[in-house]
Amino acid sequence: MEDDKKMTRRQVVTGLGATLAAAAVSPVLAGPPTNNHNNSMEAKISDPTTLHPKPPFRSQPQPWPGLQSKMDPVPDCGETSYKGSGRLQGRKALITGGDSGMGRAAAIAYAREGADVAINYYPSEEQDAQEVIALIKKEGRKAIAIPGDLRSENFCKSLVQKALAGLGGLDIIVNNAGRQQSINSIVDVTTEEFDSTMKTNIYAPFWIIREALPHLPPGSAIIGTTSEQAYDPSPDLYAYAQTKAATMNYVKSLAKQLGPKGIRVNGVAPGPIWTALQISGGAQPEKQQMFGSWTMLGRPGQPAELASIYVQLAAADASFASGQVYGSSGGVGQP
Ligand code: NAD
Ligand code: MG
Repeated sequence: MEDDKKMTRRQVVTGLGATLAAAAVSPVLAGPPTNNHNNSMEAKISDPTTLHPKPPFRSQPQPWPGLQSKMDPVPDCGETSYKGSGRLQGRKALITGGDSGMGRAAAIAYAREGADVAINYYPSEEQDAQEVIALIKKEGRKAIAIPGDLRSENFCKSLVQKALAGLGGLDIIVNNAGRQQSINSIVDVTTEEFDSTMKTNIYAPFWIIREALPHLPPGSAIIGTTSEQAYDPSPDLYAYAQTKAATMNYVKSLAKQLGPKGIRVNGVAPGPIWTALQISGGAQPEKQQMFGSWTMLGRPGQPAELASIYVQLAAADASFASGQVYGSSGGVGQP
């Protein structure tokens, strides 16, 4: 190993020679561009370790389900940064949990890519939701707000019907809403809490997909938000983590079932992302304050950093991607 790092005198001289040679021709290389390359379109590269806020964060518990507009720092869902390029022109999307976090980032990105978007959220999240509705409308796209509790089968059915009526059809469904409550011991997990987690994370996607399927044309995309928890569960997330394993699993079974109909089914598996879910009971207080410190980037992800994955999985040019789970977790976690 050490030997690899040592350079011989000959290598140093050769390297130097190459540098000098490059310097000699650099005036030519640095001259005015000879093609039509637009410098303003050049990719800007940024260091991901310094791109977004790092822990420690101030303690800021909120009652479930939390408002992200009251968080410090407010999660970045791409409000000022996401730029579309027509990848979802004319598409019609329903996104659950579209008021905040990953769902909000997906909603903003979808609208900027040319899609009409219906968002569902819990009624107490109206404030966050109205910001998203305004951002979608600003893009000149249809924005439909459908508040309601996903733990109700009847509501899930009416959600799909309202989205179909409001958008004039559906071809993207993002089952993103989720319930996560950190409870250290299984002894303290009430039947009501366990049931709420199962209803929100497992039953609601089932009810929504079953209701929507007869209306989805070939080329449609279904996306589920799973988690690194599906693969490496935390001890305090006994109920939640198993629902994320179930999400990963339904993505793969439905991809097989619906592939012949031309409908793709995929999942996104985030690592630790700075969202209202974490400060409204999703993580223990000490974990909230140091949230994301254990990733290789030394910080949590921001929802905006996953927006392009939701776009990619919905886009028509991802036509061979089905049954896949795309991760985004800062160098730790799976898949
Ligand atoms: P978030 O709190 O911003 O979004 C979750 C949303 O779920 C809420 O805004 C709410 O609208 C919705 N919701 C929950 N229960 C509901 C109910 N009964 N009825 C209607 N809506 C309900 O947090 P987020 O982190 O963006 O969560 C989005 C998804 O990402 C969830 O599925 C979550 O499990 C998953 N996830 C989050 C992380 C993370 O670290 N934040 C990591 C992996 C996976
Ligand atoms: Mg919310």
